[in-house]
Amino acid sequence: MNKAKAYSAASATSPLAPATIARRDPTEHDVQIEILFCGICHSDLHYARDEWHDVLPAVYPCVPGHEIIGRVTRVGSAVTKFKLGDLVGVGCLVDSDGTCPHCKAGLENFCPSQVLTYGGPDRHKTAPVTYGGYSDSIVVDDRFVLRIPSNLDLAGAAPLLCAGITTYSPLRHWGVTKGKKVGIVGLGGLGHMGVKIAHALGAHVVVFTTSPQKKEDALRLGADEVILSRNADEMKKHAGSFDFILDAVSADHDINAYINLLARDGNITLVGAPTKPLAVSAFGLILGRRSLSGSPIGGIAETQEMLDFCGRHNITADVEVIPIQKINEAWGRMVRSDVKYRFSIDMASLKAE
Ligand code: NAP
Ligand code: ZN
Repeated sequence: MNKAKAYSAASATSPLAPATIARRDPTEHDVQIEILFCGICHSDLHYARDEWHDVLPAVYPCVPGHEIIGRVTRVGSAVTKFKLGDLVGVGCLVDSDGTCPHCKAGLENFCPSQVLTYGGPDRHKTAPVTYGGYSDSIVVDDRFVLRIPSNLDLAGAAPLLCAGITTYSPLRHWGVTKGKKVGIVGLGGLGHMGVKIAHALGAHVVVFTTSPQKKEDALRLGADEVILSRNADEMKKHAGSFDFILDAVSADHDINAYINLLARDGNITLVGAPTKPLAVSAFGLILGRRSLSGSPIGGIAETQEMLDFCGRHNITADVEVIPIQKINEAWGRMVRSDVKYRFSIDMASLKAE
């Protein structure tokens, strides 16, 4: 067993604070990683503050973080894919049963026995639950370790491990290509990755934002048009015209306004996971034979495909790099939609603790 430095939450209401945690010694299939950067996802905050209590109750102490980039420092005897010094990533999953139909299809994100990077059952019994990437090291089964293309900036590549795959997967699943009109709702961490990826896929990209000051950024990130979603007249002009809309909003909002913008047979997919259920008007769906669906992160093979795609297109997140000591302030800003467009923690700052 080895010890790692981390930031953890002791309860739903306590701020994140320095802690020492246990990490297992690598077993034969494990990779030990020195964490260099970890992105801050809104899910970290939803979970640690127990906002998803009814679906995914939080367990404490909680060490969040599932957008991990680091360097391999040790490998188990059976590991052949990675060697010391490799730059690697870890996303939201660290284990699955490997035998269910989902795993066999490469869709570990649907495995009923999947283990989340934090708050999941620790099958190695090193700790009560798995601890995430707000830490200086982690030990992960090699099946859940990803390769990072060498041309990508590391601080900006970290958010690809969650925000990148969570937007790439539904955009691909719903056939977003050149000639499709695609809406992205909410220009936060996920939303801005959605814009970059949909643009790289060749779609006509329209951003919906509640923040007028984000308009210019949206265009720079790859949007063809920007709509202020609180302006009903602007919204109306696009009625019935979208092939696909990706909703990446973290809080309660009116989803019917977006359903009405879909074309016949259009789809809106929720990746944003607000605490309260959203109200859906049956008529919006019925009249255009439209559909509403959701999408969870992505499988490991697709995550590697997304990383390679981002490598080819030189796509990373626009990040504000922070020392871990600013984590509580960063979470406060995230709640106020004041992030451009992802925080990435420079884990070298943990050395000062
Ligand atoms: P984020 O960076 O905080 O972005 C959320 C954005 O939503 C904000 O920037 C804002 O965009 C918009 N928004 C916030 N409050 C709003 C309100 N009251 N009304 C309308 N719009 C509002 O969060 P994120 O990290 O991108 O995560 C977004 C959501 O996805 C979270 O709920 C997170 O838990 C979820 N998530 C899901 C998955 C999955 O697998 N499905 C994976 C990761 C994250 P504007 O300023 O542009 O309006
Ligand atoms: Zn996430």
